Amino acid sequence: MANTLGIVKPDGVRRKLVGNIISRIEKAGLIIRGLKALRLSKEQAAKFYAVHEGKPFYRSLIEFMTSGPVVVMVIGGHDSIDRWRDLMGHTDPARARYNTIRREFGTSIEKNVVHGSDSATTARSEVAFFFGDDEVLPKE
Ligand code: UDP
Ligand code: MG
Repeated sequence: MANTLGIVKPDGVRRKLVGNIISRIEKAGLIIRGLKALRLSKEQAAKFYAVHEGKPFYRSLIEFMTSGPVVVMVIGGHDSIDRWRDLMGHTDPARARYNTIRREFGTSIEKNVVHGSDSATTARSEVAFFFGDDEVLPKE
């Protein structure tokens, strides 16, 4: 029952997709356990995506992720890490399955609307990156 981190990226917030995305999460039986809106600094974005440092898309990704506010969420429920990744779809919207968020709303491999942790280890550290223990609802 591990929690995972979700982000509605600046393209999703700009296009008013926050409600739609939260609705998909809840309809899938997952639970919003933490939620806030913020704007990432360059330093925060660089640190959050440090695993991609040196890759050709890194600088552009930092620019994009700091281009406007984001909504960060702690998503819980059974198998939340994999199930949130399933709702998001493939990194490249063109390769994502129908009815996934990225397929429906993504406009490029960079501007793909949402982020989700990719493992239990990254989920733990990514949730802690944005949320203190007192900002996450306990599991019932
Ligand atoms: N990204 C990009 N170009 C690429 C691969 C990734 O701009 O060729 C961006 C995209 O926004 C992606 C993020 O970098 O969501 C992190 O990449 P990752 O491979 O971790 O994909 P994800 O886990 O988000 O599906
Ligand atoms: Mg990733």
